[in-house]
Amino acid sequence: MGWRLGLWYAGLFVASAVALSAATYLLLARALAAQDHDVLQSMLSRYAAVYEQSGLAGLRQLIETDAREGRHERLLVRVMNDRAEVVYFTTPPGWSAFDLSSIDQGGAGREGWATIDYPADHAVLEIGTAHLKDGVAVQVGRTSHVRDALLRNYRARSLEVGALIVLIAVAGGMLLTAAGLAPLRALDATLRGILRTGRLDARVETRGTRDPLDELGALVNEMLARIEALVAGMKGALDNVAHDLRTPLTRLRNVAESAVVAGDPAAMREGLARALEEADRVNATLTALMDISEAETGTMKLARERVRLADVVGEAVALFADEAEDKGVALEADVPASIELWADRTRLRQVLANLIENGVKYTDPGGRVELDAQVDGDQVTIAVQDSGIGIEPAHLPFVWDRLYRADTSRSARGLGLGLSLVKAIVEAHGGRVRVQSARGAGSTFSVVLPLGHPPA
Ligand code: ADP
Repeated sequence: MGWRLGLWYAGLFVASAVALSAATYLLLARALAAQDHDVLQSMLSRYAAVYEQSGLAGLRQLIETDAREGRHERLLVRVMNDRAEVVYFTTPPGWSAFDLSSIDQGGAGREGWATIDYPADHAVLEIGTAHLKDGVAVQVGRTSHVRDALLRNYRARSLEVGALIVLIAVAGGMLLTAAGLAPLRALDATLRGILRTGRLDARVETRGTRDPLDELGALVNEMLARIEALVAGMKGALDNVAHDLRTPLTRLRNVAESAVVAGDPAAMREGLARALEEADRVNATLTALMDISEAETGTMKLARERVRLADVVGEAVALFADEAEDKGVALEADVPASIELWADRTRLRQVLANLIENGVKYTDPGGRVELDAQVDGDQVTIAVQDSGIGIEPAHLPFVWDRLYRADTSRSARGLGLGLSLVKAIVEAHGGRVRVQSARGAGSTFSVVLPLGHPPA
């Protein structure tokens, strides 16, 4: 491509140089011919006027003066009387290849101006005739030798300059295309390097010039960064899942093993039931882990829609109404019906359900769990407040981690994944999570979500 572009460039450059010099040549030739004609014309009028005034003798004298002063170099002058006999004829020096009859055959004398081919050097002879009153004709002629020599010189110089132009065009074309294609070459080298080594941390070198190729490089870099983050995230997720599933699977295996070893049917049935329970836990853990990984790596598909917050809060509260009532925990929500946001309804319900479940789970009978929401600018803060057992300050920073469970909660059942999922989903929505708590003084989990705008 570099060669091709360079040659195209050189070709175009040379073609325009040729066109330009050809046009200049034609204009120059035309201007020189016009100038020659003007000179000839003024000579003719001068000689005719002198002849009319002072006759042939006067003309002869003027011509001799002109010749002495070198004014009519290469000039042909002829005077004919009324019987068409030549009474005066002078030719430039070296005028041998051409004679009077050629001039007459060429049509001179009949009209005002005639141009006759002059065989030597492909020149032309231009002759003007002035017919005077008494039948006398005065003729003045000149060959194109002088201007031909000038044009010949121009052509010869053009060839030399042309050769130089071709050289500049080819070298310049190659250099320019090589420089122009350098970013593409860098891109090529980077991508090949990545294909060869599999290392996604390589980046295309950009120059910050913001031209299309530079922008392309920056775009490729951005894409590489995303792919790198995604691959790292997926690898991390895979490691986490493998790590987090190992314990429950080992437990499942142990339960099954002890049931087999026990031998008696009742113990085996109990073992099977516990194995089933463990399998369910593995399943739930796997689903939660996958959800968290998806949300964290940005591959979670969010089906965003316009959601009325009060509706979703109502649905989530309804899920735990019975449980709260059985436990003697008051569960209340006070969310203005006017709050609407652009979010994934199912995921938002999952977030609220997890927070409410924790609130009910970690609150003793007689306590309460309250939900409220407040809009502040373009975001909404949803708070789930309970009067439960609270969390020690030492544990507080870790409650959002996967599989983290504060020791106060060991008695309650849980996977330790609820809050990680909450955080991942909220962050996937562009929001953030907060917690305030003190041991024995209840906890407030807050979710701040952007209200968001539906795409126009
Ligand atoms: P779990 O399945 O254990 O509830 P979570 O991720 O939902 O897992 O919560 C992580 C830990 O945070 C819990 O084990 C508990 O120690 C603490 N926690 C969560 N919510 C509350 C709450 N409302 N009150 C007290 N502690 C809580």
